[in-house]
Amino acid sequence: LALYGEARANSRGIEFGHAAEREACLAKVEVHRGVTYEAAPVVDGSGLAGAARDVVSPVDGRTVVGTVIEASAEQAIAAVAAARRGFPAWDASPVETRAAALDRAADLIEENRERFLALLADEAGKTLADGVAEVREAADFCRYYAAEARRTLGAGRVLTGPTGEENRYRHRGRGVIVTISPWNFPLAIFIGQTVAALVAGNAVVAKPAEQTPLTAALAVKLLHEAGVPGTALHLVPGDGRIGAVLTGHPAIDGVAFTGSTEVARIINRTLAAKDGPIVPLIAETGGINAMIVDATALPEQVTDDVVMSAFRSAGQRCSALRLLFVQEDVADRMVEMIAGAARELRLGDPRRAETDVGPVIDRDAAAGLKAHIGAMAADKRVVFEGRAPGGRFSDGHWVAPTIVRLDRAEDLTREVFGPVLHVVRYKAADLDAVLDRVAATGYGLTLGVHTRIDATIAKVCARLPVGNIYINRNMIGAVVGVQPFGGSGLSGTGPKAGGPDYLARFCLEQTISTNT
Ligand code: GLU
Repeated sequence: LALYGEARANSRGIEFGHAAEREACLAKVEVHRGVTYEAAPVVDGSGLAGAARDVVSPVDGRTVVGTVIEASAEQAIAAVAAARRGFPAWDASPVETRAAALDRAADLIEENRERFLALLADEAGKTLADGVAEVREAADFCRYYAAEARRTLGAGRVLTGPTGEENRYRHRGRGVIVTISPWNFPLAIFIGQTVAALVAGNAVVAKPAEQTPLTAALAVKLLHEAGVPGTALHLVPGDGRIGAVLTGHPAIDGVAFTGSTEVARIINRTLAAKDGPIVPLIAETGGINAMIVDATALPEQVTDDVVMSAFRSAGQRCSALRLLFVQEDVADRMVEMIAGAARELRLGDPRRAETDVGPVIDRDAAAGLKAHIGAMAADKRVVFEGRAPGGRFSDGHWVAPTIVRLDRAEDLTREVFGPVLHVVRYKAADLDAVLDRVAATGYGLTLGVHTRIDATIAKVCARLPVGNIYINRNMIGAVVGVQPFGGSGLSGTGPKAGGPDYLARFCLEQTISTNT
């Protein structure tokens, strides 16, 4: 295998085990307590007016983090029109101008790290450790796509052809791209989709998740400060109805969506039903992600990796482990160890360095997860359930880490997006049936394997068209440029975020053949 990529350092994190580093970070985060934020539609660099609603923290269900003015349909349509006007000049700008703006954005994101940590904790319930990882990822996306743009876009390439003819192949922007982003990475994925589209020369209309508009608004402000013109990047906060206005608009040239498979289908149908050009969709959706643990695996390592993969970020990652297959010879011991480690997880204030798990995003998410756990409990399937914090958190949206036992993997028919781990036992002789079952989910996002048997690793990798396979480690937290991320089938269309083929999907390719 050839080593790919140039020397490019990813962003640095914070070592919370290092007392001085931790205390310095906490003090800077604390400065942002009680600060309120605002989000509004931003078109051509100006904030638009409208009725504001409060954004309430999932941590306690009470604290108002800020206010958002959601876009009206007319404002969303105005944003598309403005993006159309802004596109030609931005597309004609040198790649270096666009890439330099992304590099500056990365610096600004890092300079505002603690402000984002506070906002991510308050608006999305993110722990500080998750927040640090997210700020790093956002900065990494900017620098990585800037480097990729310099490497692959620009003047184009001259291709060999017959004498007397010059054939030039080049990339340019597609036009107006609508980005629709999720609440679970309100900074990193919002920024990643948006800057990839921008650096390729597109104008962008960005619609963040309705739960997390404040983080998106701060990100857009920094992108504008970094040199992305107001005419090229427009912000349209709102819920699915505004998403429908944008995707149904006749004059858009592409959609980049991260969220549920169900919504990706709705967008796909909306795009397909329109007259006019065929509009491409980039979708990164969910998964019923499995991990396979056989009797040769190292129990302590499996325990750490399972707990991290299933419960970190309260299980609200599309990469998270949902379905754990454990070889029956070691299953009792493994489940006991995993439950023991899950019991040690600390739930509570996401602004405290020692907190491991924060709340889930909102009331509906908590209710859906509790209904699922309730149904499992009625069937006597719950083998471990943690405790949600009370006191000042009792009105927050908490779901404690839970482990349930299934007789058959088929019983998990949908993605359960939260801290619920489903465990199934298998016999060593049935490994093929396990792989068939994983394939039969139709998803293909992440997969974990814990084994010391090389033939098993080779078989799993050959059989399953899963986007990210993690062997003898945890299965979350893909690193930009190191583990390009994204899946296939029900999990998405590709290309992979943070990977070398991502930018091309945001481009038109043009071949110019000149008779010389
Ligand atoms: N890239 C993230 C990870 O590797 C997951 C992204 C998502 O949840 O959408 O954990």
